[in-house]
Amino acid sequence: MNTTVIELVRGKDSKLYPARPLSRAERNEIRWRTHELVCGRSLSVRQAQRALAERYGVRRSVGTIARDLRMFECSRCEDKAL
Ligand SMILES: [Zn+2]
Repeated sequence: MNTTVIELVRGKDSKLYPARPLSRAERNEIRWRTHELVCGRSLSVRQAQRALAERYGVRRSVGTIARDLRMFECSRCEDKAL
């Protein structure tokens, strides 16, 4: 599996941030990975937030993650809805 490596820089608040804006493809991939974490692995949004930071170096707010989660439906989502 290919893993997107996103370069990070340390901001003024000493937290890490992506060194550049994410491309559309990267953003889509992160959204999909987020969906996999929450829908596929049954993580909470906060657990997914931590996993994104630790595995992919991606920092996203809980609100952004929650919004992204509403943008996708996979086959598992359809099963859950039945
Ligand atoms: Zn799903």
